[in-house]
Amino acid sequence: MSTLRFLGACGTVTGSKFLLESGSHRVLLDCGVFQGSSELKQKNWSPPPFDPASLDSVVITHAHIDHTGYLPRLGKQGFSGPVYITPPTAGLLGYLLPDAAHLHEEDALYANRKSYSSHKPALPFFDAKDAQSALGLLRQVPFHERAEAAPGIAFTFRRVGHILGAAFVTVEADARRIVFSGDVGQRDVPILLDPEQPEAADYLLLESTYGDRLHPDASPREELGRVVVETVGRRGVLLIPAFAVGRAQDILYHLRSLQRDGTIPEDLPIYLDSPMAVSAVDLYCSATSEHDLEMEKLRDAGLCPIEGPSVHLVRDRDESIALNSRRGPMVIVSASGMLSGGRILHHLKHRLSDPATTLLFVGFQAQGTLGRRILEGAREVRIFGEPIAVRAEIRDIPALSAHADQRGLIEWVASLASPPRAVSLVHGEPKAREALAAGLRSKYGWTVNLPAEGEAVELK
Ligand SMILES: [Zn+2]
Repeated sequence: MSTLRFLGACGTVTGSKFLLESGSHRVLLDCGVFQGSSELKQKNWSPPPFDPASLDSVVITHAHIDHTGYLPRLGKQGFSGPVYITPPTAGLLGYLLPDAAHLHEEDALYANRKSYSSHKPALPFFDAKDAQSALGLLRQVPFHERAEAAPGIAFTFRRVGHILGAAFVTVEADARRIVFSGDVGQRDVPILLDPEQPEAADYLLLESTYGDRLHPDASPREELGRVVVETVGRRGVLLIPAFAVGRAQDILYHLRSLQRDGTIPEDLPIYLDSPMAVSAVDLYCSATSEHDLEMEKLRDAGLCPIEGPSVHLVRDRDESIALNSRRGPMVIVSASGMLSGGRILHHLKHRLSDPATTLLFVGFQAQGTLGRRILEGAREVRIFGEPIAVRAEIRDIPALSAHADQRGLIEWVASLASPPRAVSLVHGEPKAREALAAGLRSKYGWTVNLPAEGEAVELK
């Protein structure tokens, strides 16, 4: 009999890690880090409750760090591969893991300078060498190709529309079929093909990020247009914090399309200020096998639809600093998406107390993050140790998120031919998980579990 152990993303939206054991074989599904509050981040330092060297393999749904950021750490602790991954995800990780290593190295340097770490000297969570070693373990498996994760454990990736390369995984072990959703995207969004749907599952692991919300019916693209027009009207700066991979590219696509149809000025400067997001733009533009029809049509007409004459891709640090002295109107899209670090913090420090500024959220803001505090109405926040008054206009368009809402999640599993024996909800805060569980029970009458971290289910 196989068992599935929940090692993260239980009652929270980060730290995805699930251990499948079948006979003497062990496969880890996703290998993410916890993000958000300092208590959550501290958990990343605890050793995993299994011997990393004993794993047959790791199977990864998508590139986001809360699903992959523990890979270099696992390597340091004796795991020697392989890591199965879709080809576009491998491309993204080639940038994401070295970037994460760089941030960890900077954190350690800062901790040593301020000597606030209990470890002397403070060491990075992983470094550039560890990131390179982890990249050496990646084995690409195309979508729809059945492959072996361990003797007797097969898996197949299918597209789930969340970010470039994102998959849901069907694992077959002990004559049981386990569907692991990863993060489920929305239908009819720009650039990427729509999510595919699972046809059969004995056990279903389903994400629940927006399990308690319904995205409004109003077109998020039009709402974005209105926010831009209002901010331009008062010659302000529109700051859009966005996850470097996925959100940033979708937002640029929408902004360019609003420029093309004349809703917003064609010459309005748009800055993408994140080296990681700039690298991901190249990958998004070149991944033609992943594009939907609209993207292909626009691409055939010439330029990649994410780029344009007034779109400035900012890699260079000095160029980023120079934006501080520029006057509006302009749009700055920068990372990180939940304001937990990155260049967006510098922009906030300079612009958040200016009433002409608009700060627009386009993705989920987890508990314990600066983004969540501002969204919940904080009048003053601390950025780099300095108190900053919040006088900017704060807006939120959750429908621009890369996650399906409650309706989308319930519809995504409507394709299952027969009820799963059990459904476990992961990757959601408590209220969201409970609301989605209630929704699934009332719509389908299914058995729905809300596993606690460390819990295991037997796949009978
Ligand atoms: Zn994700």
